[in-house]
Amino acid sequence: MSNQTRQDYFKSVPDAQGNFGQFGGSYIPPELQQEMDRITDAYYSISKSHQFISELRSIRTHFQGRPTPVYFARTLSDELGGRIYLKREDLNHTGAHKLNHCMGEALLAKYMGKKKLIAETGAGQHGVALATAAAYFGLECEIHMGEVDIAKEHPNVVRMQILGAKVVPVSFGLKTLKEAVDSAFAAYLEDPVTSIYCIGSVVGPHPFPMMVRDFQRVVGIESREQFFEMTGENPDNVVACVGGGSNAMGIFSGFLDLEETRLYGVEPMGRGTTIGEHAATMTYGRPGVIHGFKCYLLQDDAGEPAPVYSIASGLDYPGVGPEHSMLKESGRVTYDSVTDQETVDAFFELSRKEGIIPALESAHAVAYAMKLAKDNPRQSILVNLSGRGDKDIDFIVEQYGTRATFADAVE
Ligand SMILES: *Cc1c(COP(=O)(O)O)cnc(C)c1O
Repeated sequence: MSNQTRQDYFKSVPDAQGNFGQFGGSYIPPELQQEMDRITDAYYSISKSHQFISELRSIRTHFQGRPTPVYFARTLSDELGGRIYLKREDLNHTGAHKLNHCMGEALLAKYMGKKKLIAETGAGQHGVALATAAAYFGLECEIHMGEVDIAKEHPNVVRMQILGAKVVPVSFGLKTLKEAVDSAFAAYLEDPVTSIYCIGSVVGPHPFPMMVRDFQRVVGIESREQFFEMTGENPDNVVACVGGGSNAMGIFSGFLDLEETRLYGVEPMGRGTTIGEHAATMTYGRPGVIHGFKCYLLQDDAGEPAPVYSIASGLDYPGVGPEHSMLKESGRVTYDSVTDQETVDAFFELSRKEGIIPALESAHAVAYAMKLAKDNPRQSILVNLSGRGDKDIDFIVEQYGTRATFADAVE
């Protein structure tokens, strides 16, 4: 794919109705469709304007601290064989990649004259990022969050409240991400004129999968340039964890045209392969509709979304972005999984060997990259380190201790 073909891809995928091949689209009630059409029109006209682009560019530089660096993980690489590089989205303001699309969505909201941002959150990272964007632009913010996640991710709940957001606890179903999306959608439908729904990943009805991908493309554009500048070549492999798939789409989008670069999306296999014990959508799902769009979906026999689990709250969603679903079918991206145990091992390994505590979501990608590095000693692997692990340390210590000190104490 030349530069021109690359531009053509992003212009023609998705099509005008938001279809990524057979996936994506918009399966929603007419009153919501009207609002989505308004957002789509606004996105096409406003986001291409010189003013919008330069304002977003300035925000990224001065507020978010972009570009985030690419870092060569030397100790880990020497130990494993392959060369592991990390795109440091953990250093993006608020500690994860999610602020990239939140600032874009909130800027669009401002141009559209909206007063309030509504969203769901899983690990709390999207909620914190959106509450940050709302504070920046002086907008109201309402975040829906499952009670299970509220208990697990307490620091992020407090952060949202300090930033001025209202956190709405969701107490039905499994009380995690899927129910939070349902609850946030319902709140948005009550007042779609002055409020706007800001989805947290490349999911939902058109135009969200396209819009969120476009705002995350900065990760792929930066890291392709940075990697080439550092090494004089393109990476052999690019690895990212996949929940809804926004950090993965962000980095993959920079390399889709490079046939020699293999792309890997890593899903959570959790505690095992039984339904309810994982969220490996691509491995065990089949095409279905959730939250207004078509994608690979973990579902029961009746076609209802199946219960999901992952040690990483940000990955426990039974659906996945429609573009990922398309890229799986086309074979351009390989989707694979790692278990909770492999994830926790990678979490400690990266902390000990490189001085970087990763988010448990990102540790899935690190775990997979470590396997690739072991199996392919001469290859380079660029990992999207989507976020930092501060939010996870209480949970980890409670479950696993701090490991080294435990061994020391036993001796
Ligand atoms: C939310 C989150 C993810 C998963 O979301 P995607 O849309 O799949 O990127 C991954 N990493 C971190 C740090 C997150 O907060």
